[in-house]
Amino acid sequence: MSKTITILGSTGSIGKNAIDVVEALGNEYQVEYLSAYSNAEKLAEQALLIRPKAVCIVNEDSAIDVKSVLQNESIDVLTGRAGLLEIASQEVDVLLNGLVGSAGMEPTLKAIEAGNDVALSNKESLVMAGQLINIAKTKTGTEIFPVDSEHSAIWQCLSGESMEDVSKLILTGSGGPFRERDVNSFSDIAPDEALNHPNWDMGKKITIDSATMMNKGLEVIEAHWLFGTKPDDIEIIIHPQSIIHSMVEFSDGSVKAQLGVPDMKIPIQYAFTYPRHNPSDWESLDLLKNSELTFQPPDNTRFPCIQLAYAALRKGGTASAVLNVANEHAVYRFLDGSISFTDIPKIVESACDSHDFHNNPNLDIILQIESWTKEFVVNFRP
Ligand code: MG
Repeated sequence: MSKTITILGSTGSIGKNAIDVVEALGNEYQVEYLSAYSNAEKLAEQALLIRPKAVCIVNEDSAIDVKSVLQNESIDVLTGRAGLLEIASQEVDVLLNGLVGSAGMEPTLKAIEAGNDVALSNKESLVMAGQLINIAKTKTGTEIFPVDSEHSAIWQCLSGESMEDVSKLILTGSGGPFRERDVNSFSDIAPDEALNHPNWDMGKKITIDSATMMNKGLEVIEAHWLFGTKPDDIEIIIHPQSIIHSMVEFSDGSVKAQLGVPDMKIPIQYAFTYPRHNPSDWESLDLLKNSELTFQPPDNTRFPCIQLAYAALRKGGTASAVLNVANEHAVYRFLDGSISFTDIPKIVESACDSHDFHNNPNLDIILQIESWTKEFVVNFRP
């Protein structure tokens, strides 16, 4: 019997890779639902190729184009945020969440509540609502398969191991494009410079997060909720070559690492084929061409976002949700030119300090916090 799949965010970087992966895997994997935000042309093209049961286009203005292409194709077209949540709730074997930012949180929760396993690329889901998602996961007996390359690496290193024997998780990060730039010129960084990542080809939001290293901070929080590891036992190490995707250290000092070329297709495919590693036709790792693997400590003065993320995780409650939403909207303000690169951590810190903290938030409180934080960032004057 074939495995059924939903892909949320199918026209984005992760979604397009996921479609290539599923196409190459063949008939055993069947995509039944797709969602996109506004790229009508690409979504319609994917729908005609894959023939899902239904697609959702969130932006209502783009819906007319999708509907006109698919009108005689017996593929349902849903629209809006409600359509997205409905797609997320349709029963499948695994739902890949490749959405960007906090918009991905509720779909993750809905998918898990519907009993779907989730291949999670949207780390913001766990940063915003890790506790709620884990409670729902236990209730429905579902699983989260990490698609973030670091967490996929840790997941693979933990295979066959007991969490009791783990002494720490070591998250690697490339250090982004500004690892060696003069820190005094950080306020002059232009969006184009920050969008130029040395190793990974990704969407805009995550590329800026990599440049501020907030991405690594969010990944620390994500790792905590995925593996139950305490903040003090999650370490970040800079590894500019992005060949070792992360490591696990055990109580006896033994360290396991997972390596590979920096290609998101590998963690995406593994989340679909788990526990098997299926054959693939992409480039394999040539260690002789990558013989220099180097490591450095993260520079917390240069990249204050890292410590802001640790602080939010230690505080718990709604702190990480505020951190996440504040960062997201600060990134959009940086991209539209209304704040500088160095304002991003300042805004995040200020939002975290000013918000109305809740220790044990439910979904409604998290959604209220989300709108409060967005408002705070939009009105922030640096
Ligand atoms: Mg990552």
